[in-house]
Amino acid sequence: MPTLNDIRSTFLSYFAKQGHEVVESSPLVPRNDPTLMFANSGMVQFKNLFTGVEHRDYKRATTAQKCVRAGGKHNDLDNVGYTARHHTFFEMLGNFSFGDYFKSDAIPFAWELITRDLGIDKSRLLVTVYHTDDEAAEIWKKVAGLPDDRIIRIPTSDNFWQMGPTGPCGPCTEIFYDHGEQHWGGPPGSPDDDGDRFVEIWNLVFMQYEQFEDGSRKDLPNQSIDTGMGIERVAALLQGTNDNYATDLMRSLIEASADASSTDPDGPGKTHHRVIADHLRSTSFLMADGVMPSNDGRGYVLRRIMRRAMRHAHLLGVKDPLMYRLVPALVQQMGAAYPELGRAQSLIEETLKQEETRFKQTLDRGLKLLDDELANLPEGAALPGQAAFKLYDTYGFPLDLTQDALREQDRTVDTDGFDAAMAEQKAKARAAWSGSGESADATVWFDVADQHGTTDFLGYDTETAEGQI
Ligand code: ATP
Ligand code: MG
Ligand code: MG
Ligand code: MG
Repeated sequence: MPTLNDIRSTFLSYFAKQGHEVVESSPLVPRNDPTLMFANSGMVQFKNLFTGVEHRDYKRATTAQKCVRAGGKHNDLDNVGYTARHHTFFEMLGNFSFGDYFKSDAIPFAWELITRDLGIDKSRLLVTVYHTDDEAAEIWKKVAGLPDDRIIRIPTSDNFWQMGPTGPCGPCTEIFYDHGEQHWGGPPGSPDDDGDRFVEIWNLVFMQYEQFEDGSRKDLPNQSIDTGMGIERVAALLQGTNDNYATDLMRSLIEASADASSTDPDGPGKTHHRVIADHLRSTSFLMADGVMPSNDGRGYVLRRIMRRAMRHAHLLGVKDPLMYRLVPALVQQMGAAYPELGRAQSLIEETLKQEETRFKQTLDRGLKLLDDELANLPEGAALPGQAAFKLYDTYGFPLDLTQDALREQDRTVDTDGFDAAMAEQKAKARAAWSGSGESADATVWFDVADQHGTTDFLGYDTETAEGQI
């Protein structure tokens, strides 16, 4: 059974043999791109090559890219603990052509790699194409011999990729694996296609048009390819499961969490272990790339993930800091492929421990307050915004942590009430400030906080380029 590390090598060496330059993953914090919070796909580091702004001495590349989807347009934070196939941190394997080969090579490469080199059972595979992309449908038919009902035509933007409102764009084709009818979910494009039965493993984007401001499109002089395959999902199916969290790598982290908390990895705390294992990876990799917990921007996203994990550790009955004790297990698993993790190990451990120690002081009291509030609410009623704000302001509970806690009980937060409480507090602070005799310039801080938000900062959700294959 191939391990996750085996799959990474198989993928990269397959494309190296096909003349691709093996390029290192870029850091999670994109260089020179303030529009994007974290690298969330393989194409991010190549954006300028697709638009032709930058040239390198290769036209084909392959990578294993570190990705975080915990903010911005692609936010999978709320999926973690609920689906078998989403992480906040994952690795995306990709092959890229910068004006070199196109569809008629990209599809056969993908098919050969998954069915021959990785040995995936053909009878389980199906693909989607953009509804007007006859060319891709024909190639699939020819190369893979797939029957028409396993080449599904999708009319939505799921199968049409755009870098932004203008610029390179094109249809994409996605490869799905059917884990069998014992799992819930329908094929892509069907009403229940959000289950864990038909799992998307690979997305191939065909950049063939340039979109202009007036909505018109022209053929690009150089057509390009951008693909992304989720390594954890492929590891799952090759290891005979539909559950990413049952794969060798994730399982070892779950077992580390179970050992450190003296609990059963598959007992009532199962979901907590999954969340902890996932959040351990995203928080550690973010710190290894220089993000530190803080109250705004990227650092606040990191802090939110950490605190969410800490609540789950608390629910396992753990009294002392836990997360930092799991770092060695992660370094053991991923340190060889990502040496930055080992280099930053002590920094990661110390920062986690410090955050856990600090948050512990208010976490217990905050959860007690939350329980008291809930005890007084009618069944199913939303938590009043004032209470969520108090948890945020006094106890350091990020809003999404409170939402995560309530979701287990099918409850939500009155977010309008939360925003109102926040606005009221800001207005009070501003009034107090102007009454203090400080110069008027000081109020600039509040404007900045207003613009960017201090709590609900989820990412740079701009219209501009964001890798979203
Ligand atoms: P999904 O529809 O399952 O959320 P996606 O369409 O958002 O996936 P893409 O943006 O196409 O994903 O990314 C390319 C590949 O990366 C996907 O085919 C999948 O294998 C993998 N992937 C995407 N998001 C995640 C995630 N949160 N965790 C693990 N793997 C992921
Ligand atoms: Mg998604
Ligand atoms: Mg998808
Ligand atoms: Mg996709």
